Amino acid sequence: MTRPAGALPAEFADVHPDAWTEPFWLANREQRLTIPKCVNCGTFRFPPGPFCHSCRHQEVEQVEISGAGTVYTYTVVRHAVVPSLADSVPYVIAVLEFDDAPGVRMIANIVESDVDAVRIGSRVELAWDHVDDEVTVPRFRLAG
Ligand SMILES: [Zn+2]
Repeated sequence: MTRPAGALPAEFADVHPDAWTEPFWLANREQRLTIPKCVNCGTFRFPPGPFCHSCRHQEVEQVEISGAGTVYTYTVVRHAVVPSLADSVPYVIAVLEFDDAPGVRMIANIVESDVDAVRIGSRVELAWDHVDDEVTVPRFRLAG
């Protein structure tokens, strides 16, 4: 498996799942983007956590979504804040909203795309980043 162009260095994908985030990371390994959804009131809960912010219920179901979405906001990083990012700039970090998970916003790296073409409202699609045997990260590319 190859990593997508523009993905941040592997050291920035050092994940330490807990009971609430582990299902997300396990699904990512199978290239499935899942978002926990409250079984009591139907609210999507992301980032995953122990209580629904709407009804305080704890139980969730993991709902697989397509990853098709829209850029809510973004920044183009042109300065390497740490030396290990020197080969990565410029890169885009965006806040995304998803067609099939209303209310969810995810911070993600936009890859395989012209950084100057990203706009608020740009359409995105999944671009899986297989960092290693343990970690696969959902990145996104401009769609279309
Ligand atoms: Zn709820």
